[in-house]
Amino acid sequence: MKKHILLFTITVMGMGMIFGSPKVSALESETTNAVAETTKAATETTKAVAETTKTETKTTTRAVEKETKPQMIKDFEKTTVNINKITLVSKKKIKLQWDKVEGATGYLIYRKTDEGNYIKIATVKNADINEYTNKNLKYGNTYIYTIKAYKDYNGKTYFSSYKRDGYTKVLKVKKKKIGQYHYLYDMDKQKIENVQNFLDNPKYCIKVNILASVVTIYAKDGTKRYTIPVKAYLCSGNIYDTCGTFKLGVKYRFRGLYYNCHSQWASRIHGDILFHTVPYKKSQNPTSLDIKQYNLLGTPASHGCIRLQCAASKWINDNCPIGTKVIFYKDQNPGPLGKPKLEKLKSWHTWDPTDPTMKEKCKEHNCKHTEI
Ligand SMILES: [Zn+2]
Repeated sequence: MKKHILLFTITVMGMGMIFGSPKVSALESETTNAVAETTKAATETTKAVAETTKTETKTTTRAVEKETKPQMIKDFEKTTVNINKITLVSKKKIKLQWDKVEGATGYLIYRKTDEGNYIKIATVKNADINEYTNKNLKYGNTYIYTIKAYKDYNGKTYFSSYKRDGYTKVLKVKKKKIGQYHYLYDMDKQKIENVQNFLDNPKYCIKVNILASVVTIYAKDGTKRYTIPVKAYLCSGNIYDTCGTFKLGVKYRFRGLYYNCHSQWASRIHGDILFHTVPYKKSQNPTSLDIKQYNLLGTPASHGCIRLQCAASKWINDNCPIGTKVIFYKDQNPGPLGKPKLEKLKSWHTWDPTDPTMKEKCKEHNCKHTEI
């Protein structure tokens, strides 16, 4: 059709040139104008044809591509990424976890607030990683996330589909009283794990259950009682330990113990009784852990002190000031957060897996420990 118009225009142009001879004067200028217009029109038409041809070429290339695109790419482009868990980490952080997409090179993370558009906030360039923590958020706000997978293939990048309405999370917690305790929940009724990250200037109390071999940390609910369970740690005490209320004393980074043993983080409870790490065979040597004693955590095994994993002992040192209330009691019931499970160590693992100074060592050995 366009080609016919072009032919017609060229014919008009030819006529214009005849009219344009010097002998014709009155019509001349008008005709010249007409010719000029026609010429312009012709040029435009030519352009249009050129464009059409270009478009046609493009379409053809695309069609060819479509034909040769492997089925797995077509399938990939149809896949949507499923976010399987969204956790509130702190008042400023939300963690996303998603199901890995087969064949993906990486993931693009998008976020929007109530009325806005999705904005890409991060690119996860490692296909093995399927979690991302979004930081610097504002407490009280609602965030909507969606994720696209991408795949680099034959020099091109292909993108998966994505869930358009996304996954909504409100960065807010509420307190709920169950029995004598207060627990924190998010707006989706998920229990908050890192309770301490949602408390303002918390005041703690440490309760040591000698029989169950569990230490539970509680936070004060406002000005009232210590009714917010925060953390539970395994411990090893001694069944003859005296019950009572004490005040946390001086803290140590490295501390010699009786029986030629050594500790990393430690703090005094009363007399010779300390919170300390599982004993080490050498002073200030975090790879000389007494593995046998470590594997006894969760049972009464000490001469009287309260043994803890490194992370627990350090947590007390970092979060509980001198004077913090410490209560020793004996009960078969481990407490409101239950009794954590111990991951027993193999003989080569001569360091505490919760020791923050040994993270590299665990990485070298490809360890997969659960955080306590
Ligand atoms: Zn390890």
